[in-house]
Amino acid sequence: SPPIDDHSDVLVIGGGQAGLSTAYFLQRFGLGDRYQLLDHAPDSGGAWQFRWPTLTLATANRVHDLPGLGLIEALGDDRPEVAARAAVPEYFRIYEERFGLRVRRPVHVRSVKRVGDGFVTHLGDGRQITSRTIINATGTWDRPFIPHIPGAEEFGGRQLHTHDYTGPADFAGQRVLVIGAGISAVQLLIEIAREAEGAQTFWCSRREPEFQRREFDPEQGRAAVARVEERVRAGLPPTSVVSVTGLASTPAIEAARADGILDWRPMFTRITRTGVCWDCGPGPPTGAERLDVDVLFWNTGFRSSLDHLSPLRLRGPGGGIVMTGRLTTTVASDPRIQLVGYGPSASTIGANRAGREAARMVAELLGND
Ligand code: FAD
Repeated sequence: SPPIDDHSDVLVIGGGQAGLSTAYFLQRFGLGDRYQLLDHAPDSGGAWQFRWPTLTLATANRVHDLPGLGLIEALGDDRPEVAARAAVPEYFRIYEERFGLRVRRPVHVRSVKRVGDGFVTHLGDGRQITSRTIINATGTWDRPFIPHIPGAEEFGGRQLHTHDYTGPADFAGQRVLVIGAGISAVQLLIEIAREAEGAQTFWCSRREPEFQRREFDPEQGRAAVARVEERVRAGLPPTSVVSVTGLASTPAIEAARADGILDWRPMFTRITRTGVCWDCGPGPPTGAERLDVDVLFWNTGFRSSLDHLSPLRLRGPGGGIVMTGRLTTTVASDPRIQLVGYGPSASTIGANRAGREAARMVAELLGND
């Protein structure tokens, strides 16, 4: 890892898809010597290095190529069956090398504060970096979200989130309730039902998932992104762009449906010591419908990982950050701060474009000083 300078005009925080795209374009726009890129993960790959081992390039949605060098070109071949946690980090490593992107890692950013007409960033080891601008690209992986349901602390079994899943073998012989309606929930429900020996699975979520009979419709995808964009322009917390496009029905999903694995139930209202129940109050459920399980497996998504920016007080009354600019990468209250991979750009393709736009905005802001 290159040494850390105590000042750079541009500080990029996070070296996943969004951070690498940003760095690529900062170089293209002549700011190659004026930025530092920090990441607290041990290796290249952004959040992909932490995905569960059974997620492959074929079962991921689609990992869009970074600008200037595609995955297949970098790796030399197409590897649909390879674990995404191996292939994508290797791709990013080659990418960083090819374009000379100097990522400082592992470097944890604890907080960013305003000072004078710029910022001071406090690192996990006590060091500080001053900068004139901040481009934040910290993704969502470090902020798994579990909704609050009464009784959660009473549950005597195991609770885990997508973030902590390591494979189906862990669930052998157990009664597992999968919670969530996104692609991770459905894929992992099927995986556990099929591969964890002797496991019994159950599934519920707040809204019933809709399975689309046809392939991903780009028009629908654009409309979903536009809705998230509208939210962040209004200062509302973003919803996920990768989850709102509906679930494409695949042969694996059809087969699971035929085998009774996708037997959906509405969300329970309370967690008990031994499981969950519907329409029940505190105390042992009596007449109410109940389900006893060993595991509550929350596939309930992620939130933006922005705790280190809290001293900047960016959140407004809507609960989110009011965003502006052509691709909503700019914090409306302070254009020296760009957020990439946030809101409508929280997809691999969105992160690419946002990186370019944020680099362009910062280049314009710094001008020819
Ligand atoms: P990340 O890849 O999360 O990178 C953020 C980086 O910031 C990390 O390297 C992290 O170490 C670093 N960081 C965070 N906080 C700090 C800090 N305080 N200090 C220093 N460094 C920090 N999108 C798609 O388009 N296609 C898919 O197939 C797809 N599959 C997905 C599957 C799952 C299970 C999930 C959860 C998401 C998926 N997504 C997918 C969405 C995906 O997360 C984004 O598309 C994209 O990978 C995010 O890139 P990013 O650079 O914004 O974030």
